[in-house]
Order: sequence, then structure tokens, then C-alpha cells
Amino acid sequence: MPRATLTLEMYYDMTEEVLNGIVLYTADLKEYDKRLVVLTKERGKITVFANGARRPNSPLRAASRSFTMGRFTVFPGRESYTLKKAEITEYFEAIEQDVEKLCYASYFCELMSYYTREGDACVNHLNLLYLAMQALIRENLSYGLIRNIYELKLMDLEGEALHAFDCVKCGSKDKLTFFSEEAGGFLCETCGDKLQANVKMSNTLVYAVRYILAKPLPELFSFTLSPEAERELSRITERFVHKYVDKEFKSLEILGGLL
Ligand SMILES: [Zn+2]
Repeated sequence: MPRATLTLEMYYDMTEEVLNGIVLYTADLKEYDKRLVVLTKERGKITVFANGARRPNSPLRAASRSFTMGRFTVFPGRESYTLKKAEITEYFEAIEQDVEKLCYASYFCELMSYYTREGDACVNHLNLLYLAMQALIRENLSYGLIRNIYELKLMDLEGEALHAFDCVKCGSKDKLTFFSEEAGGFLCETCGDKLQANVKMSNTLVYAVRYILAKPLPELFSFTLSPEAERELSRITERFVHKYVDKEFKSLEILGGLL
């Protein structure tokens, strides 16, 4: 019996996958190639090679940029994927045109990359990133507030939520007036005194953190705070992230130089 010839085309047709995602970042490779790191709904964070994507007339060129969102048709390999084509649904162009927005969006992608890996279920992660980018473009909220909401919610999705609904130490729900990153969250007055916690919280801060943790993603980026409460939120979030995220982010260094 004659053996059927398996052409490369047939092989590709059999194995290609369509994945929905956002490009977290890209790197130029030799020749005209690019390596993309893409957060996908279906397969978590994956590496995708876009061959020839830096050629001016490449059909992969537009999709091979950071923050591009769309449907990516890829061929799976052993440890990475190869991009065949992409249908772009969103470019987030306004982000690329503003250096401050660009820094925040890059940080959101870096932090997302820190937390995710291949094989993870990433529907909520992808949605959170999308909503945070949209919020940056809308400008209804300060960038700092968008950042803090994103950080606290992402850590919550990762099971590292700030403990905010009762005292970390004794479980009391009354007089939660202290914060301690060492303890992992809010403390009542008695435990706060005992542990010599030095960050006092306002009621507004307590409410804001609980709002972020309790609300579904589409309602997250929909509240504002007084400048004073924003500073408070930023202070405890920074301490909390610093304590539990073991990485320095390049985008934050650049942002620090801008502000
Ligand atoms: Zn307590």
C-alpha cells in the first residue's frame, strides 16, 4: 500500500491552535525575527517566535508589538510556539504615545509575567490586564491608583491577598486600625499595639482595600479617592508588594526617573 505523504502544510493544519491573548513584551532576534511573550486565556504565559516579523512587509509585524491584543494562530513546538497569523482586536495605541502610560503598562506586563507561567488558567489575569490598560487610556483615575488596584487584585488572584476583612492575628472584626506587611494585612488595635505596628489606617483606606478585593473585575477601576487616601493606599500597597514580590522591575526604575 502506498504511504501517504505528510506535507508540512498538512502538519501545520492538524496542529495549529488559536489563542486569545495580549503580548506582554517582545525581543528582537537575529535576522528579522522576534520573540514574543504572550499571556493567553487558554495556555497561560507562552513564548511565541514570530519569524520575519521585523521585515517591513511582514504580515506578522503589526501583531509582534508589546500590548497588542488579539487572536493568535500558532504552531505548538516542544517549548515554544511559532506564530502563523494574528487577528488584532486592540492596539492600545494611546499607551505607546505617552511615556508615563507606557511605563505603567510595561510594569503591569512585567508584574503579570512574574506571576504567570505556561499552563495556568489566565482568564481573570488577562481580563485584569485589559481593564487596567483601558483605565490608563480613559484617565478617570490617577495612574497611581490604577497601579495599586492592579497590584492588590493581581496578588489576590494569585492567592496572596492582603488580609483585610478581620485581624490577621486574632480574627477580630472590630477596630481594624493598623497595617503590617510582616503580618500580611490588617490588625486590630490590641494586636497592632502588641506587635508595635507603625502604620495607622483611616476608615477610607480600610474600605478602599476591601472594595478592591471584593468587587468583580469590571467594577474595579470605578472609584476615586482623596489625594490623602491615595497616598495611604499607595504606602501600604508598596510595602505589601515589596514584602511579597521578590523582583526589581525595570519599568519602575524608568518611572522613578520620570516622576
Ligand atoms: Zn487582633
